[in-house]
Amino acid sequence: MTEQLFFLDPVFQERIWGGRALEEKFGYNIPEGNIGECWGISAHPNGESTIRNGIYAGKKLSDLWGCTPELFGKQVEEVFPLLVKVLDADADLSVQVHPDDAYARAHENGELGKTECWYIVDCADDADIIFGHNAATKEEMQQMIEAGQWEQFLRRQPVAKGDFFYVPSGTIHALCKGTIVLEVQQSSDTTYRLYDYDRQDEDGNLRDLHIAKSIAVSTVPHTPVNPVPVIVTETDELKIVELVNNDFFAVAKYTISGTVIHGFAKPDTYALISVVEGQGSIEGKPVKKGDHLLVAAQAGALTFAGSFEAVVAQP
Ligand code: ZN
Repeated sequence: MTEQLFFLDPVFQERIWGGRALEEKFGYNIPEGNIGECWGISAHPNGESTIRNGIYAGKKLSDLWGCTPELFGKQVEEVFPLLVKVLDADADLSVQVHPDDAYARAHENGELGKTECWYIVDCADDADIIFGHNAATKEEMQQMIEAGQWEQFLRRQPVAKGDFFYVPSGTIHALCKGTIVLEVQQSSDTTYRLYDYDRQDEDGNLRDLHIAKSIAVSTVPHTPVNPVPVIVTETDELKIVELVNNDFFAVAKYTISGTVIHGFAKPDTYALISVVEGQGSIEGKPVKKGDHLLVAAQAGALTFAGSFEAVVAQP
């Protein structure tokens, strides 16, 4: 049988809000500096993951997508549609919003829009995020922004380890200091920055803002969509909680405690596995916190063993 399980080598991205937690907490061998993002499963041209093992070792994920479509099942998209990251917010991120597919296609050279979701891997006791806003209309949104009424405009929400947030395009959001997140998103790098706390860089410059585009794409009033987590399997060896399942992605959390043979919820397409805690094996191959794997569409049921937690995404 041909190989069905591929480990991916991530790409690390320096960010002004990043830190060193990707090394300290995930054991990644990261470059110097403030590293904010690990692009664990990516075929985006701004940072592509590389296959680590087997006959495709050294190939980029986009090569696999283009040359071996059978690994991915019934794919219809031209480009690999998902991007899985680990984010280390060592400082507050700028407040931002992403366009949907239609707006991005029209205004951003055919890029995809960006709907994303966050699984909180770890956070400080008092950590929170910015999620949504309090304006009733776009006119009010504009007035509050122009008047600098950020405290009134932005909604803050406390977060705890294990929380999950669905962040559809059009949602105003920001991770805040002290949060480590596993993010599953559409494969897009289009972000409109709304507010950066008036922070200056070393040369006294402010970062660019995109106020008009932010107002154009924001959902007003804020309409939270909070998918209810569903326990789909619960045995001594395996617990699966479905976190979200929509047109963009199905995301579930797996907790493995022992040995179990299990097939994925969508048997005719590929799966992306990111180990967020512990260690064990999949199909006899050792896995540990920080590993990212692609499972081919034809893999069928896999043997999971050990004691670990993973976030599993399917298109
Ligand atoms: Zn975002």
